Amino acid sequence: MGFPHNPHARETVLLSQYFGDPEARSYKGWVKRGGYEALQQALAMPPAAVTDVVKESGLRGRGGAGFPTGLKWTFMPKEKDKKKPHYLCVNADESEPGTFKDREIMRWTPHALLEGTLITMHAIQADVAYIYIRGEFTEPFAVMEQALAEATAAKALGTFKIYLHKGAGAYICGEETALMSSIEGKRGNPRIKPPFPAAFGVFGMPTTINNVETLAVVPHIITHGAAWHKAMSLSSPKSTGTKLFSVCGHIQKPGNYEVTMGFPLKDLVYELAGGMRPGRTLKACIPGGSSVPILNREETERCLLDYEGCVAEGTLLGSGGVIVFDDSADMVYQIMRLARFYAHESCAQCTQCREGTAWTTKILERVLAGQGKMQDLDLLLDLAENMTGKTICVLSDSCAAPVVSGIKKFRGEFEDYIAGRRRAMVA
Ligand code: SF4
Repeated sequence: MGFPHNPHARETVLLSQYFGDPEARSYKGWVKRGGYEALQQALAMPPAAVTDVVKESGLRGRGGAGFPTGLKWTFMPKEKDKKKPHYLCVNADESEPGTFKDREIMRWTPHALLEGTLITMHAIQADVAYIYIRGEFTEPFAVMEQALAEATAAKALGTFKIYLHKGAGAYICGEETALMSSIEGKRGNPRIKPPFPAAFGVFGMPTTINNVETLAVVPHIITHGAAWHKAMSLSSPKSTGTKLFSVCGHIQKPGNYEVTMGFPLKDLVYELAGGMRPGRTLKACIPGGSSVPILNREETERCLLDYEGCVAEGTLLGSGGVIVFDDSADMVYQIMRLARFYAHESCAQCTQCREGTAWTTKILERVLAGQGKMQDLDLLLDLAENMTGKTICVLSDSCAAPVVSGIKKFRGEFEDYIAGRRRAMVA
């Protein structure tokens, strides 16, 4: 698979090189571009050798958690037991506010995902894979359906079976165990871990779950090798390869941008995405989808886009959904909107989440309505503490993160509402 690459370049294009190219969507067009060669290469290798290449490449999960991909594959049983078939689940339930990169991979390069899925199935010795696609993704689903039909007709799947599964619109089904419950036909509730999916996954069988972007890069790693992928890093050796960032909000050129790990966030915002609207200045940024702590302007301008660079600024790389706020943004209102989203999407199994997300929203609505008290800020922080690290999944933590960082960094805006110096423009 050919593409321009310089390991020292600040902008490397692997995943997005064929975005906008309709021919690349077809099986024939993909094969013409070198597609499915990596699959043949991988099938000629023992499964453990494929896993070793991915492990050595430093690839980490692009869905949000950043767990090392090859290491995750080694958790699967080494030998196949006829009574315990292995499964691969592909998480295409992209629902994190501000994130829209998996959608583009499926829309424009569906065979990249299918090829990465097939290579991974070989590595973990799975005969069946489920690609769980967000229910609202009508067009990507249709493109994937067409691509799967073409690949099946061309016998590219061999004995592997891939099923597309449409979600029904619940954010929580992007959580790996909720996704498995949903595939099983049950309510999409997260499960307590352990047991982890590699031991007890979908239908109680050993299962690996990977994100769309993670799998789409696997064919490139097989073709070019672990060392090639490892060399793509501008900052930390623990963050390698490229990453797609979805940029939205108060920005001139919203869209998906693929950059090498370690790329400066300020260059993404001010250069690639065109900067602020005329007359406006940057106020804040959420770099990893709505679940991660908010950065103020200074932190945004210092932050390097890799796992370690984001942690150094007190936030997370997450799913790579970059939400930009200019100086016109009302941070109290924005944070309330996020809390309202999480309250709506909570599956309600855990008290801290069910009650915490609802009360956080109510208190923020009260502050916005001019009926808040100064004690409400401490109450919000207290609630957030009780919502963090105490629940079955991290939805509760995700609601708390922007609230805590928002009050810490933009406290004056909350106090203005409470003191009656500011009134909400919207409800
Ligand atoms: Fe459900 Fe929230 Fe508990 Fe997650 S944290 S399992 S979303 S109640």
